[in-house]
Amino acid sequence: MQLTNRKKVVVKKEMSLVEQLYLPAIANGMTITFRHLFKKPATVRYPEVKREISGTYRGQHVLKRDENGAERCTACGLCAVACPAEAITMDAAERRKGDEHLYREEKYAAVYEINMLRCIFCGLCEEACPKEAIFLTDRIVPVSGNRKDMVYGKDKLVEDVNHPIDLSERQTPEVVEFKKDKTKYHNQTWKDRGNLLNENKHH
Ligand code: SF4
Ligand code: SF4
Repeated sequence: MQLTNRKKVVVKKEMSLVEQLYLPAIANGMTITFRHLFKKPATVRYPEVKREISGTYRGQHVLKRDENGAERCTACGLCAVACPAEAITMDAAERRKGDEHLYREEKYAAVYEINMLRCIFCGLCEEACPKEAIFLTDRIVPVSGNRKDMVYGKDKLVEDVNHPIDLSERQTPEVVEFKKDKTKYHNQTWKDRGNLLNENKHH
């Protein structure tokens, strides 16, 4: 019984004498191979040679410090909620007296981890962060044969206090300008807040 009319009749045509010799097909293949010998290769000898990457390439994250060297992250968890890959986990802790130089807010991330094997480098954590604490950088995440090495903790994520990572090239001029506006609460440092309070008192 015929169910559809999509049946195709395959013609098993006899090969001609030339086709049976395979020589024209081999010559054709060799011509293509030789042509490629004189073309610029499409590949590079990585890792000796590295291709230039886009300035906005989304690579390894950084947890930023403010201009006083304190960690900006307040462990609000918004980045973890925004992450579609559920790659971010954290434990919040309350800042103790005397630790103001270490953490900008009263609450901070005692543990902050990103599983780089889960991360799809979408940048949504960066967009969700109200404290301008997490950014994706142009750094390429190194590979590892050990899965545990790919869970990055604060030791790998928080920037070195002496070598801050300049992200200004990766921001649009409008965003850079917006971040200078100290009247916006999340752009303020403790020093700014003190200054603004004093200014308000005098008015
Ligand atoms: S870049 Fe995307 S996937 Fe990676 S941690 Fe951020 S939100 Fe999650
Ligand atoms: S990185 Fe930003 S969004 Fe994530 S917990 Fe810290 S302050 Fe909140």
